[in-house]
Amino acid sequence: MAEAIKKPRILHVTPEMSPLVKMGGLGDVVGSLPRALNELGCDCRVLIPNFKGLMDRANQMGLKVTRCKARIHVALNWRVYSAGLLRTEVGGVKTYILDQPELFGDLEVYPKALTCETAMPFVFLGAAGLEIGDATGWRPQVLHLHDWPASTAASLLKWHRHYHRCSGSYETVLTIHNLAHQGIVSPAGMDGWGFNKNSFSIDGMEFYGHVNLLKGAIMASDYVTTVSPRYSWDIQTKEGGMGLDGVLYAHRDKLKGILNGVDYSVWNPATDRVIAANYTVQDISGKWTCREDLFKMAGWEDRGEVLVCFVGRLVEQKGIDLILGAMDRLMLEPVKLLILGSGHPLFQERVLSEARKHPDRIWASTAFDEELSHRIYAGSDLLLMPSLFEPCGLSQLIAMAYGTIPVARATGGIADTVIDADGAQDGTGFLFIDYSPEEMMRALRRAIGAVTDINRRLNIMRNCMTSDFSWKSSASSYREIYMDLMGRLA
Ligand code: ADP
Repeated sequence: MAEAIKKPRILHVTPEMSPLVKMGGLGDVVGSLPRALNELGCDCRVLIPNFKGLMDRANQMGLKVTRCKARIHVALNWRVYSAGLLRTEVGGVKTYILDQPELFGDLEVYPKALTCETAMPFVFLGAAGLEIGDATGWRPQVLHLHDWPASTAASLLKWHRHYHRCSGSYETVLTIHNLAHQGIVSPAGMDGWGFNKNSFSIDGMEFYGHVNLLKGAIMASDYVTTVSPRYSWDIQTKEGGMGLDGVLYAHRDKLKGILNGVDYSVWNPATDRVIAANYTVQDISGKWTCREDLFKMAGWEDRGEVLVCFVGRLVEQKGIDLILGAMDRLMLEPVKLLILGSGHPLFQERVLSEARKHPDRIWASTAFDEELSHRIYAGSDLLLMPSLFEPCGLSQLIAMAYGTIPVARATGGIADTVIDADGAQDGTGFLFIDYSPEEMMRALRRAIGAVTDINRRLNIMRNCMTSDFSWKSSASSYREIYMDLMGRLA
C-alpha cells in the first residue's frame, strides 16, 4: 500500500487531449497536466474516445498505436456495447483510446444537440473509465473526470445497479472547466442507462425535472475543482452559478480552485517553430519580425497602428458581441484588428462581414488553426479578451508568454492572472470590470497609450514574459488532492 500511495495511479477521463483532440482550453489542460503530474511521481494515464478524425491526427503525429487484447463491455439501452481499446503515448503519457465506432465514429467530440440518445456515448465513456482496471490490469485509484462528458463515472459509482459494487475502490475528482456546459437532457430516455431510480433525485442528477450530468458528478465526486480560484467563488454566486450556485455552495468544502498552467514546451517564443522569428525577454527583436509577418499575411502596410488580436471561440462567453458592438468606436482608434475564432455561425458571419467592410483594418479567419494562433499571439501588440465570464482563460496566459499585452475583463481566471499596469510597476495588462463597450474602450485606450510609449511598453512586456504560469505549482495542488484521497483509500 505504501508504494501505491507514493505513486498514485490516476485515470483522466476526458473528451479532449491536445494535440490529439482540441476544441478549447480543456484540451490544453489534459494535454499537459497529466505529464506535469507524472513528473511529480504520479502514474497518470488518459482515457479518450476514438472520435472521428482522431486516428488521422495520431498518424500525422507519428504516434505508435497498438490494440490491447482486452475489450470493454457495457450494458446500455438493453444491449451490450463492446469497445476495443487502443494504446499509445502522447507526450510520454500513456493514453487509452476507446474504440467504439457505433458510438463515437461519427462524432466530432461534442454532439450538436444533446438528447438522451446523443448523451449515451458519454455514459459509455464514464462506464469505460470504471472498466479499465479489469480490461488492462492497470488499476487506477483515482478517476479524474473532466467536465460533463466524463461526469457519469462518478454517478455510476453512486447510483448504478452494477457499478455501485465498485464504489469503495475508486476516489473521484471532477474538474469543471466551464460551468456553461452541464450535459442537460430529458429524463425520458434514461431508463436503459442502468441507474437506480434514486439517482433522479435532488441528491443525484435531477435538475428542474431534467437530468443534469454535471450536477450528478458534483454531488457524487469526492473533490470538485475549478480551473482558477476566482472561478470557484464566481460559480457559488447567483450571477456566475448557472443554476448550480446553491449546489456548489452546499458542497464548498470539497470545492477547490486550481489555476491552469501553460505548457511552455508548446507556447514559448524562444523555441516556437511556426513563428517567423524566435525571441526572448532578453532580445525581443524577433517579435517585430513576427509582427511584420502578420502585416504581410493580412496584406497591410504598416503605418504604425497598434495590432490588436482576438483569439477565441466566437461565443457570447468570450465577449465577441461586445467587440462587434463597439466596432465603430474601435475603428476610430489607431488600430488594426486580427480575429481568429470559430463558433456560433451568426457571430462568424458578423465577424467576416466586418472584415469585408474594413479590409484595410480588420482581418478575420473563422478556422480553428493552431499554427496561425501561434503566429498571431507572437506578432500582435495587444490581445483583446473582453470575456463575459472566464473559468481560467488560457489565451491571456499564452499572449503574455509572447509579450502580447492583454486588454481584458477582470473576471474568473483573468482576474487571478492579469495585473493592471496603471499604478502597478509589475503590471501585465489593462483590465476593466463592467461588461460594457465604454469600459472596454477605456481600457483599450489606456493600453494604446502605453504601447506607444516604448519604455513603458517594454516594461509591461517584460513583466508579461517573466510571469510564470507553468504547471509546476498547479500540478502539485492536484497531487495534494490525490494524496488526500489516497489516505482515505489506505
Ligand atoms: P476556452 O477553453 O473557453 O475555449 P481558453 O482561453 O481556456 O478558452 O482556451 C482556448 C484555447 O483554444 C487557447 O489555446 C486558444 O489559443 C485556442 N483557440 C481558440 N480558438 C481558436 C482558433 N480558432 N484557432 C486556434 N486556436 C484557438
